[in-house]
Amino acid sequence: MRTTLIALAVMLSACSGADVIEMTDGTRITGCFARDEGARVLIWDRMEQVGGPAREIPRSQVKELKIERDDTWDARPQLPDLTVTHIELTPRLAGLHGVVQYDQLGRPRIAGASALVDEGEKGYQNPAAAVARLKLAYTPGEQVTLTAHVKNVGFATAPGFAYEWLMDGKPLSSGRHAAGLKEMQEATFALRWKWQEGRHSVTFRVKPQSKEIATINDEATDPLWGFAFFYVVSKGRVNAWHQFRSASGTFCFEDYYRWHLDIMNRLFAASICPSAPNGIEARVRLDRILYADDVDTTVATLREKDGIAYHQGGWIWTDSPEEKQGKWGQVNREWRCATEWSLPHELGHQLGLVDYYAIDYAGHEDHVMPDNGDKITHFQRHPVTMMHWHGPQPFNETDAGYLNMTIDKPRGHFGDYYFAIPKEVWLRVVDVNGRGVPGATVECFQRGTQVDAGGRPGEDGACKFWPVVEDGNFDRPVSKDPVMAGQTDASGMLRLANRPVAPVTTLNGYTRAPNPFGNINVVGGRGLMLIRVMRNGRPAHYWLEAWDLNVLWFRGQRDRCEIVLRTPYGSPDSPPAPRGVTAADGPEGKVTVAWNTPTTPREGVYLDRVIGYRVYRRVSSDGLNDRPWHPVATLGPSERSLVVDLKATLVEDVYWFTRTDRFAVSAIGESGRESELVEAPPLKR
Ligand SMILES: [Zn+2]
Repeated sequence: MRTTLIALAVMLSACSGADVIEMTDGTRITGCFARDEGARVLIWDRMEQVGGPAREIPRSQVKELKIERDDTWDARPQLPDLTVTHIELTPRLAGLHGVVQYDQLGRPRIAGASALVDEGEKGYQNPAAAVARLKLAYTPGEQVTLTAHVKNVGFATAPGFAYEWLMDGKPLSSGRHAAGLKEMQEATFALRWKWQEGRHSVTFRVKPQSKEIATINDEATDPLWGFAFFYVVSKGRVNAWHQFRSASGTFCFEDYYRWHLDIMNRLFAASICPSAPNGIEARVRLDRILYADDVDTTVATLREKDGIAYHQGGWIWTDSPEEKQGKWGQVNREWRCATEWSLPHELGHQLGLVDYYAIDYAGHEDHVMPDNGDKITHFQRHPVTMMHWHGPQPFNETDAGYLNMTIDKPRGHFGDYYFAIPKEVWLRVVDVNGRGVPGATVECFQRGTQVDAGGRPGEDGACKFWPVVEDGNFDRPVSKDPVMAGQTDASGMLRLANRPVAPVTTLNGYTRAPNPFGNINVVGGRGLMLIRVMRNGRPAHYWLEAWDLNVLWFRGQRDRCEIVLRTPYGSPDSPPAPRGVTAADGPEGKVTVAWNTPTTPREGVYLDRVIGYRVYRRVSSDGLNDRPWHPVATLGPSERSLVVDLKATLVEDVYWFTRTDRFAVSAIGESGRESELVEAPPLKR
């Protein structure tokens, strides 16, 4: 009995104030200290391990991670703790932050610094001339200096220590720092190195002579091809972060936020897509930390006298009025013991990546569903990505394509990859059996535009297009009138018009040429098109994101691409469709879908033989290519109704704007040919 009690007490003390990881296989890891890195979770199983090597599990095996820490987490060991905060690389390369200007037509141009060559209007097409005098790369054999910063972030003086430099894991040089470091004291170590071609990683490692709080911060490895970031932080904030332990396992602002760049690089590598089989090959590195007495004053120093900022982006911790007076509230423990997912997202912007939630659209009364009047809405198709919803997830395919293509370019442009659109964009409108729909009317309405009533329409191929108002306002809802319209050919194909543009080419190599989106902007306002297909008076609505076309461009379809629009229309040889389809809510989350047999004016023709029915469901009032029809059941020819279990048949998609529930039924003929989908009146939720 006594032994059991002691065992229980030991168990409780081991579990109190520690994390719980629920695994997808139903098991639990308790009493641990976890670090979520998005692609993996690192686990220290016991407090004594914190700050040392951790075991790792793939993130996909984690169902839920609960961070639970108590005061023991923040107890300060009376030990030193040497950390390598960052490695500088000088001379620094020029960046373009703050010198990319936009005109009313959404064209970026590099200008606004004395170091730049201002070619005026010509600069829109010849960006290389603007930066001709800037240092944008190192040349092989060039002498550069690497400066490692070492700080004692422990609570006791660190005795003298040895250190070494490594390049790609091979020793370069070593030395000894005899003096030791007091609490929060810093030392720097410089190394001259001749630049070499290729992607090299530098490591600086200290070898502490006594026991320390943490060992994982004894070295830093930086990809030298990584984009150089700065951090600006007030001395007061750094000191406040020395008062508690963060998720990184140490009592140190720098360790926590340097860890976030490691996470970003890890998520880059994990962003594996069809056009990026090695993920994102670009990297980031922490080049500079500016410890500020006053943050605003320090930020002003980032721009040199020549008007250029010599960095590729960074982050500024702005102090609140209370903080400026030295009143530092303890950062919430749960928060500082977790990963700050907003940071890799924001730093993604620093590299030029856009917010994909800018493609979400809550709808407008100009465009509503014909059955129930719901606004037709759109939610970006891949929201569980870093630049749509920041969180433990990789970047998307255009992020990968962009960063891989511009890996050696200065940062400062934003979203210019929206210009990457194939030269020909074809729509393939197909019916329920996958066959082309000839003679369908196609109208395209574009967000961020308003058709210019006085403008002269143009023609390109089978499409007619109308000019839009160009007043620099890209925030308009989807245009009330179509910006272009046409009819599908005999095989259901229609090439969208390449609408005229004010041309521009960016230093990253993206050209805004005539394209279906016209003068598309870099933020996403104009990057969304509502496509209304109409046949025999029956409309079908789709959304085309410029992003869809960018992806195909990055996959190599630079000359021609095809977008397939699956309609609910029947084929010429379809069996006759069921009649009088209804859906009625029943008890216990069930819906009864019922229909009548089809009628046909012909007698006994093989094409009309119905061998079964298929019941479909679709939730939301998003486009048909966002939330398409999903088959719920296939039934025999004598069935006239089906009781649908709402929970069991719900496809777990993102239903952001509406949960309107729609049901439809088709008749099945020989060889699986289906009739058009006949819809029941929708059920509003
Ligand atoms: Zn954002």
